[in-house]
Amino acid sequence: MPAIRLFDTAAGHEVALESGDRPSMYVCGITPYDATHMGHAASYVAFDLLNRAWRDAGKDVDYVQNVTDIDDPLLERATATNVDWRELAQSQIDLFQTDMEALNVLSPDHYVGAVESISLIVPEVERLVSQGLAYTVPGTNGEPDGDVYYDVEAAGKQSVAPDAWSLGSISGLSESEMLELFAERGGDPGRSGKRQALDPLLWRVAREGEPHWPGGSLGDGRPGWHIECTVIAQKYLPAPFTVQGGGSDLIFPHHEMGAGHAYSLAGVPLAKHYAHAGMVGLDGEKMSKSKGNLVLVSKLRAAGEDPAAIRLAILAHHYRSDWSWTDEGFAAAKADLAAWRRALEHAPQGSAAPLVDEMRAALAADLDAPAAVAAVSRWARQANDGGAPASASDRTLVRDAVDALLGVQL
Ligand code: ZN
Repeated sequence: MPAIRLFDTAAGHEVALESGDRPSMYVCGITPYDATHMGHAASYVAFDLLNRAWRDAGKDVDYVQNVTDIDDPLLERATATNVDWRELAQSQIDLFQTDMEALNVLSPDHYVGAVESISLIVPEVERLVSQGLAYTVPGTNGEPDGDVYYDVEAAGKQSVAPDAWSLGSISGLSESEMLELFAERGGDPGRSGKRQALDPLLWRVAREGEPHWPGGSLGDGRPGWHIECTVIAQKYLPAPFTVQGGGSDLIFPHHEMGAGHAYSLAGVPLAKHYAHAGMVGLDGEKMSKSKGNLVLVSKLRAAGEDPAAIRLAILAHHYRSDWSWTDEGFAAAKADLAAWRRALEHAPQGSAAPLVDEMRAALAADLDAPAAVAAVSRWARQANDGGAPASASDRTLVRDAVDALLGVQL
C-alpha cells in the first residue's frame, strides 16, 4: 500500500496521513431511533475503506465509534410509537450491527454508548464550567434553570497557539452559514439567556418525564451530543488521534464543537484530520424520513438482495461526492458482481499482482473506490474474454484482495 492521502475538511485539501504504526480513528455513530439507511451505510463503508487500507499497510488500527443512545430524536420517536426508549434504542442498535456485518464493515474496537459514558462526561462539563468556558442558563418559557452551554467565544480566545481551536477552525464557515446550519441540525440559536446564539448545549438538566442521570454539581440531567463524542474519543484514543470521520452533515456544528470542547479540555486538538463522506439521495432527491424515501439496508436484505452488491453499488461513487441511489445503479452493481465472480474461474496467469497494485494505488489516492472498482472490472472483462491460461493462485489472490481492500466478498 503506497502512502495514504486523504482529503482533510479542516485543511481544505488532501493531506498525506502520517499515522505511524498505530493510526487511530473515531467515526461518529448513529442515534438508534431508525433503521440504517443508505446514507449511513455509505458513510461507514467509506471509513471502512480507510481502516482496510491501513490494515493492508500492516498497521494496527485503533477504531472507536459511539452510539448516541440517549437524545431528543430517540425520545421523540419512542413517545410517538409508544415504545420504551431503551427498547427502541436496543432494537435499532441490533439492526444496525446486523446491517454493518452484512455489508462486511469491520467492527470498531470500542463501540461506546452515551448512557454508559455519562459518569465520564459530567466531570468534564464541570471542568469547563470551572474554567469559565461554560455557563448555566436561567429558566425561561417553561424551561427549568440550569442547562449548561459552552461559551464558543471565550473558548476561541483561550490560546493563540497555531493549532488552537476557534469557531470555524474545522468547518471554515461564515457566521451566517453557521447560524443557518445550527438551527437546522439540532442547535437552539434562539434560546434566551445564551451568551452567543451558536453556543451549544453541554448538559440538559432533568425535565419532567424525561430520563436523567446524576450530574454532580450540574444537577441531574443528560449530556449534549458534541461533548459525548469528545469525551468518548479522549477516553479511548490518543490525543490527537489520526482521523475523525462522519457524514458531511456532521461538519457543523458537531465536529466543529467537538473539536472546541476537546481543545478546551486537553489543550491539544481532538484529531489531526477531519474527513467527511457525501450525502446519499434517492433518484435525485434528498433522502429523509419526512419524505418517506429512505432506502434501508435491512429492507434490501429482507428482499433477498446480496449485501455484496449493495456494497459494490456504494463503492461505485467516490465517498466525498453526493450521489443518488437508483435502480439502474444497483442493477449495474449486481451485473458487475456477477461478472467479477465469473471472472474468478478464468483468472489469467500473472494478472493478479498488477491488479492488486492498481487497487492499492487507487485507494491510497483519497480512497478512490470507483477507480479500484473500474480496475477490477477491466480485469474481469479480460478474464471473461478468455484466451489466457487460468491460474488458481491468481484466482485466490484476486478474491482475497477484493475482500481485503474493497470488502466485497466474491
Ligand atoms: Zn460524534
